[in-house]
Amino acid sequence: MKRARPRTCTGCREESPKRELIRVVRTPEGEILVDAAGRHPGRGAYVCRKKECVLEAMKRNALARALRAPVERKFYETLLGMIPDEPEGDIP
Ligand SMILES: [Zn+2]
Repeated sequence: MKRARPRTCTGCREESPKRELIRVVRTPEGEILVDAAGRHPGRGAYVCRKKECVLEAMKRNALARALRAPVERKFYETLLGMIPDEPEGDIP
């Protein structure tokens, strides 16, 4: 039985529609992966597709806590690399 749970970003702690979040999964083998398709088996955690959220999660080690497994800094850097740079505010 599966309950639909809200998807909460581990960075900003806000709930967002799933498609706006990146799913990170800890596989049954204990690997930490970015789950692009959103259907990999394992324990999942979510973070917004925003660099600030990834950075916040990194600062608080939030993914490791959500996944109950160590998450290397390198992994966060991989996540950051997947997010395109957004224009900062209103550029005239
Ligand atoms: Zn967020």
